[in-house]
Amino acid sequence: MTSESTDLSLNTPLSSLPAVGQVRSAKLSKIGLRTVRDLMFHFPRDYEFPAPPTPISDLNEGVPASLIGVIADAEMISRMPGKSVFGAIVENQTGAVRILFFNQPFRAETLKLDRRVMISGTAKLNGLRMEFVHPQVTILGDDDDLVKPQILPLYPLTEGIKQIEMRRMVWDCTSDLFGSLSEVLPDRIRQQAAIRLTQAGTRSDIAASLGESLPRIDKAMRDLHRPPDEGSLNAARSRLVFQELLVMQLALAIKRRRLTTDLKSPPLPSTAMVDARIVNRFQFDLTGDQRRAIDQIRTDMARQFPMNRLLQGDVGSGKTVVAIYAMMLAVANEHQAVLMAPTEVLARQHYQTLVNKLAGSRVRIGLLCGSLNTAEKRDCLERISTGEIDLLVATQAVLYGDIDFKQLGLCVIDEQHKFGVQQRVKLRSGGIDPHYLVMSATPIPRSIAMTLFGDVELSTLRDKPPGRGKVNTYLGREQWKERWWDFVCQRLNEGRQAFVVAPRVSAVEPTLDDENQEDISSVEEVYEHLSSGPLKDYRVGLLHGRMPAEDKQAIMQRFASEEIQVLVSTTVIEVGIDVSNATVMTILGAQRFGLAQLHQLRGRVSRGSHAGHVCVFTDGETDPDENERLKVLEEVEDGFELAEADFRLRGPGDMLGRRQSGLPPMWIADLVRDADILALARSIAQEMVDEDPELKALDLAGLRQQVFRRYADRLDLGDVA
Ligand code: ADP
Ligand code: MG
Repeated sequence: MTSESTDLSLNTPLSSLPAVGQVRSAKLSKIGLRTVRDLMFHFPRDYEFPAPPTPISDLNEGVPASLIGVIADAEMISRMPGKSVFGAIVENQTGAVRILFFNQPFRAETLKLDRRVMISGTAKLNGLRMEFVHPQVTILGDDDDLVKPQILPLYPLTEGIKQIEMRRMVWDCTSDLFGSLSEVLPDRIRQQAAIRLTQAGTRSDIAASLGESLPRIDKAMRDLHRPPDEGSLNAARSRLVFQELLVMQLALAIKRRRLTTDLKSPPLPSTAMVDARIVNRFQFDLTGDQRRAIDQIRTDMARQFPMNRLLQGDVGSGKTVVAIYAMMLAVANEHQAVLMAPTEVLARQHYQTLVNKLAGSRVRIGLLCGSLNTAEKRDCLERISTGEIDLLVATQAVLYGDIDFKQLGLCVIDEQHKFGVQQRVKLRSGGIDPHYLVMSATPIPRSIAMTLFGDVELSTLRDKPPGRGKVNTYLGREQWKERWWDFVCQRLNEGRQAFVVAPRVSAVEPTLDDENQEDISSVEEVYEHLSSGPLKDYRVGLLHGRMPAEDKQAIMQRFASEEIQVLVSTTVIEVGIDVSNATVMTILGAQRFGLAQLHQLRGRVSRGSHAGHVCVFTDGETDPDENERLKVLEEVEDGFELAEADFRLRGPGDMLGRRQSGLPPMWIADLVRDADILALARSIAQEMVDEDPELKALDLAGLRQQVFRRYADRLDLGDVA
């Protein structure tokens, strides 16, 4: 061994390696590759799978193929510097092909007469002969009969580095060091994972490759960078994905456990009598899912650490009812409850619902929102602190003011995607945390729920209350618009009401595929057009986010009382507005909305017993039939199915918003593709933490270190002890 290779370690800077050199190491550092370790963990983004060997007579133009043969002729066709051409004929029993290389004069050194070679690439017909330009070539020995074409890794590249260089650098600089990686997954865990993955109905090709144990780290690394075959590659990838997801899930499991041991909340139990008293307030039977969610909440709230539960369900699935139950339970235990809404419109609506539902009870309800005047606010805050208000409905903005509750027991947060430690801290008083219930009408794909919301328990309302009308969704063609407005008029004549949704007030925020901002039809223009044109015989109202709160409130009120028949609005109606007589919705410029948002919108017309109708129009150049998302919207009615489809279409990052998805960055795991492994990692992590809460077992030291190194900050887990 040379002194250089004995010195090589994972921390060796790439710039000091002759195999990399100064120029290339500078380029690599642009994508964060500075040390040998970085290069080793620079995983292929994909692989090129070789085509199966093909008889020459069966070659087709443009179809990748490989073949083994002997060099029957070789010639430097041109030696002009910068324009050299080398050609050779490769022959076997099935025929002969030509191979050509431009500006690679060195090929003449290796591709000599009578050498056996394997080539792969894409053939092109030139005259009567198939020709491969720059095929992949492997020189074979005389008896290498069984040689298989290699699977080639495709690495993420950076400007000025070619794939072939990257492959060579990764292998040359790292392959001697695979053995020096420490194994953080004990045998017992690798075996358990392989067995359970095989049993769990994992994709059969992957399951078959796992055998009795996931491969050790050194083998996994080797096989990932230079897979001998597809089975080994699958096993290697599964191991590394499992490790990454297990580390994340261990962090989340530790976090969940700590929340139960470190935080204190008032126990708010519910007896059978209290339960009956609350349930009797509802004029209907709870759905099975509502009952299940309520029972989960009862168990949570009876404990002396905070409930931390996410209640998800499509619009109209009856979440608010479940929340009312939880709030009543707090009040029955002589504690206060607060319901946070994202907008004032929604806060007022919730307030009204509570006032109606609790009419005749002794529960005192308050409303706190931005549009109250100073005296009203002061009065409300006063009554909260003296305990004269039992249930408070507030907009989220007031959270950032100081509210001094007399005895807060429960905080319900409506329609929010994320809630975290910061908000929680605001509401704790004297070291006591309230219980938390978060409601979301944006169904979250399972795998996101297990990551982003991994420290939260989940309740799901899937079945709808009985007697709900179906929603029909249509993709509108421009030429149908007139007929559609006729249809809307007919529904209005029958006494129903209608929504019209336009993208936004004016074209300020750029959206997904905005190439032409002029296309955005402002909601005011739409309003002008409809109220003087297709819907001129009806009472049309306008609602958008820039209107003062009182105006918005007044418009909503007039729509609810049917004084307004058609509400033209921006997406301010997206969240929660409940007018069961509204059964038709027109969405304009639909390509500008996300799938989840469109689904939320159409939920507005399925509140009552009449069938709902939603017609989705696109503007500008977008053809609704070409838009994958809109087609999914048309075909899929169930919110959970839709969320999964959206997730597959867009991937987790985009789904949760491009810039800040809140998801931890993944090295190799793909939450869409690796859903099975994620589910397994989650249950193994939970079992491990149940048994050994701080991962103190000796054989878990390495794993524990990874968990804390990666997640201590993110999840506020404190230092590595
Ligand atoms: P969400 O908050 O999930 O959108 P809501 O709780 O507002 O749904 O419920 C929508 C409507 O359905 C409300 O008018 C509510 O009173 C009614 N509702 C809720 N649960 C039931 C049920 N189990 N049976 C009949 N109607 C219900
Ligand atoms: Mg709601």
